Amino acid sequence: MGLLTALEGGYGDAADALRIDGYAMSRERLLTAATAVADRIAGAPALAVLARPTAETVTAVVGGLLAGVPVVPLPPDSGPTEREHILRDSGAALLAVRPGDELPAGGVGAGIEVLPVELTARAERSQGSGGAGGAYPEPAPERTAFVLYTSGTTGAPKGALIPRSAVAADLDALAEAWQWTAEDTLVHGLPLFHVHGLVLGVLGALRTGSKLVHTGRPTPGAYAAARGSLYFGVPTVWGRVAADESAARALGGARLLVSGSAPLPVPVFERLAALTGQAPIERYGMTETLITVSTRADGERRPGSVGLPLEGVRTRLVGEDGSPVPHDGETVGELQLAGPTLFAGYLNRPDASAEAWTEDGWFRTGDVAVIDPDGFHRIVGRASVDLIKSGGYRIGAGEVEAALRDHPAVADAAVVGAPDEDLGQAVVAFVIADGAVTGDRLISFVAERLSVHKRPRRVVLVEELPRNAMGKVLKKQLLERL
Ligand code: ATP
Ligand code: MG
Repeated sequence: MGLLTALEGGYGDAADALRIDGYAMSRERLLTAATAVADRIAGAPALAVLARPTAETVTAVVGGLLAGVPVVPLPPDSGPTEREHILRDSGAALLAVRPGDELPAGGVGAGIEVLPVELTARAERSQGSGGAGGAYPEPAPERTAFVLYTSGTTGAPKGALIPRSAVAADLDALAEAWQWTAEDTLVHGLPLFHVHGLVLGVLGALRTGSKLVHTGRPTPGAYAAARGSLYFGVPTVWGRVAADESAARALGGARLLVSGSAPLPVPVFERLAALTGQAPIERYGMTETLITVSTRADGERRPGSVGLPLEGVRTRLVGEDGSPVPHDGETVGELQLAGPTLFAGYLNRPDASAEAWTEDGWFRTGDVAVIDPDGFHRIVGRASVDLIKSGGYRIGAGEVEAALRDHPAVADAAVVGAPDEDLGQAVVAFVIADGAVTGDRLISFVAERLSVHKRPRRVVLVEELPRNAMGKVLKKQLLERL
């Protein structure tokens, strides 16, 4: 089924099918307003959307999809450099905003026309145009639905060209794996400029016909008050929910709690399971591939695992020399992917695009993983920062982080491989800890639990770990501090 055809069935018939930013909207109303946007942008090279979590953002995104114009979500808090990069790189000449909203400090640059998105007046004007389906035929499946910029965790954000067919395939696979239907109410408070909040969190609800409640901010209190059946969150959000007993208990009635975008620490998994009565579901994805591996609603929920490849997705592990790595639950390798949800390449980055695929057509995720003999995937981390090569050993940063988090005084930890003359890389831990615990004590604590070569050589006690909006630790910044 085409992307657009399916979107028209979404959000059910309720007057409050979409709740966002204090605003309730029916699907009918959304599509009418989105059609008005489509009318104004038809033929444009790309539509940038200032992606604040508002009804206007959702309307503009759906309008772009109706018109077949690639949608470029712009992070609302992006600084002038990032904003300029995205606008220039994507070739967008239009920027959709909520009327009356302040434009980002520093302006949007010359040559960009600001397009105010009206939810009512314009919508009435275009009501006679026959509705979305009548006015706009389904664009070809290989056309670009989105230019999504990667999180920039490892370098400057790259614009991934996401075909309409990839979005449709991913949402259908997730609906199947999560038994996600029109009976559901999805709740989340994620940003609307990444795969997680936008593709899954907005279009997923449209495609399955479920209701959507966007809480603005993903706080435990807002999640508890929303009374949904399906909740999305990044691990930092789930960590806060797990720490708020009454909020966690209020989620006990939900059908599925889904975590992704970064690793979910096992203690958070366990506490959520204990307080809500059900273990969370983990899924793995990237901007470039959308979601590819997930725990199933009807399957085992294995702590520390992101589950099984989704329908149509193939995965493999390869060693540094490109040779196959056994799926034995122990050996790490680079995770490579093939399937219908992959992007078409990076915009204006032929170098990065060429490097992204192997000669035999597999996408290199840059993540290292272990696959259990029964097919369950465990993500170790990024090959570039989370696989530490120290004194001839390969050490996964996540394993050391997990050991540190087991110490009662440790609130959080991030482990990096710092350049070291003797070892190549040395394990260095940045730790948030309360009170009297010393770095030396933590080093011996890890040495007692893991192979001794995995213990940190140095512990840096910090107040906070640098994270981006998706809760990903910015390890490059930590390395720069050393
Ligand atoms: P950039 O590519 O610009 O450096 P980024 O890789 O953080 O940024 P995204 O595409 O948003 O940008 O994130 C994808 C990455 O997030 C994956 O490659 C993986 O490292 C991590 N990730 C996503 N889901 C999970 C998960 N469930 N467990 C562990 N890591 C995850
Ligand atoms: Mg990446």
